Amino acid sequence: MAKATPVHDHGHPEHGNIVIGHMIFCPACKCGHLFYNGKQRGNDTAWTFDGNLGNPTFSPSMLVYESKTHPRCHSFVRNGKIQFLSDCTHELKGQTVPLEDI
Ligand SMILES: [Zn+2]
Repeated sequence: MAKATPVHDHGHPEHGNIVIGHMIFCPACKCGHLFYNGKQRGNDTAWTFDGNLGNPTFSPSMLVYESKTHPRCHSFVRNGKIQFLSDCTHELKGQTVPLEDI
């Protein structure tokens, strides 16, 4: 089973052959967070990924800003676990939990 899954850009001129990042399922937000790898168009945001889909590590941290529909979520994903930092506004702040399969 995998805890990270590749995301392709199907609108890309190379017809979806480009992996633009990897998605994990965030157990706090109950939705996916996408770690871009810098290959998507018009966005220079890039994380490093160790290539381990079963126990992924991404760097640096993921920060999702608070909105009307979404809490602030700031985390590190390391070795298949997600560490929520203390500035999150959801119930898992300050905790480290295993990632779920996606
Ligand atoms: Zn989250």
